[in-house]
Amino acid sequence: MHNDKAVMAGRNNLLDADSISRCANAKAGAFIDLSDRVWAMPELRFEEFRSVQEHITIMEAEGFRVTRDIAGIRTAFMAEAGEGDVTIGFLGEFDALAGLSQVAGITEQRELEPGANGHGCHHNLLGAASLLAAVALKDALAEAGIKARVRYYGCPAEEGGSGKTYMARAGAFDDLDAAFCWHPCVYNAVMSSSTLANIQAYFRFSGRAAHAAMSPQVGRSALDAVELMNVGINYMREHMPSEARVHYAITQTGGISPNVVQAKAEGLYLIRAPRLDDVRSLFERVRKIAEGAALMTETTVEMIFDRATSNVLPNRALEEVMHREFTALGPPDFDAPDFEFADRLRREALTDADVRASAEAFGGPADYPKSLHDAILPLVERPGLLFGSTDVGDVSWIVPTAQCLTATAAIGTPFHTWQTVTQGKLPAAHKAMVTAAKVMAASAARVVTDSDLRERAKRELQERRKGEAYRSPLPEGSEAPIASAR
Ligand SMILES: [Zn+2]
Repeated sequence: MHNDKAVMAGRNNLLDADSISRCANAKAGAFIDLSDRVWAMPELRFEEFRSVQEHITIMEAEGFRVTRDIAGIRTAFMAEAGEGDVTIGFLGEFDALAGLSQVAGITEQRELEPGANGHGCHHNLLGAASLLAAVALKDALAEAGIKARVRYYGCPAEEGGSGKTYMARAGAFDDLDAAFCWHPCVYNAVMSSSTLANIQAYFRFSGRAAHAAMSPQVGRSALDAVELMNVGINYMREHMPSEARVHYAITQTGGISPNVVQAKAEGLYLIRAPRLDDVRSLFERVRKIAEGAALMTETTVEMIFDRATSNVLPNRALEEVMHREFTALGPPDFDAPDFEFADRLRREALTDADVRASAEAFGGPADYPKSLHDAILPLVERPGLLFGSTDVGDVSWIVPTAQCLTATAAIGTPFHTWQTVTQGKLPAAHKAMVTAAKVMAASAARVVTDSDLRERAKRELQERRKGEAYRSPLPEGSEAPIASAR
């Protein structure tokens, strides 16, 4: 420690990993139950009404002041406790994925409810752990007689909705000193890599239907336009930054009859790159390609914006603190039945390729001898790029932000699959969830008591922004794509 005052504060007031751990343990049961209830009511992006109500009920009982409808989104909310000059935010998520209904605690695929949703990214644990972190920090601060503001952010639609980006544009994170988050994983680690910024939008073409054989000359094919748009994008690929990505799905083909000139067709395009500037300029080129395809086919094209996120700006100052606190607290304490289930899942439902993919994605050891990770990965010396995107990125541009990962699932478990859902309310997942809560709260406690750390983290954020201000990746006037919520 470099700050005498913080040492004194830590010693005198006992705001340390032990006091955080004790406060978290005292209430963990209620949050484990919350996580199980959310697992059992899997709701999709922007429709997390019941899950949000479960979270709000618990926070009100804990004495938090709740602000609903952040950024005009009915499932975005903030809960705050305490007063003081330092404000800490914990970010939570609770949305599920479509079509992943699965019975819990078995090693074969079996739907719980045909066609229903499932918690394939363990966001049931994610939200509950961030809530527990907020409550444990609030209680530990009260015990130690230290004043600070503690906030929980209920962030909707992480899965393909970028809820936090809308909350960020509305200024929800502007007055924080630091933000903490975690994600369920197959390893215990502190995240130190950046992610890709992205923009996603629909391009909807409209033409003119006609009999494809008798009067093709009067038809104008929207489907042709979608195909030509893809040809254009494929030629663009050679002239993109090498780490950029363009993905697409054809979301409307116009029909299944080849003897009709298709009058409506649509594609959904996802453009990613390490820098938001690059994403913006690639997106402008994609728009020109769409207009070119419309011109060639005498159709019209409409762009419907869907979502956007910024890249994550890592914060080494906070990551180092988080890694120290994680090491002091230790990894989740898995027992023999936890390993037995994970062993069986690995034998019956995972492949060697799955295990290798886990190690490659997160920098884990390729030959870890156990099915559950019960160590903590070292802090990466030269963090690279994680080839995915998260809306935590937008928060990280506004306020110093750090994230940890804990092993809620067996090594090799591919996320967004039934194998993840089935492990979402096992004792191992609960243990990893409570560990994540403690690591976040203990790291936040250090930020509260160490003004020098706060300054260093903020200075680092300034340096990483290279003089740029946060600019929302959302187009002006765009609103969250809330279908059934309005
Ligand atoms: Zn997730």
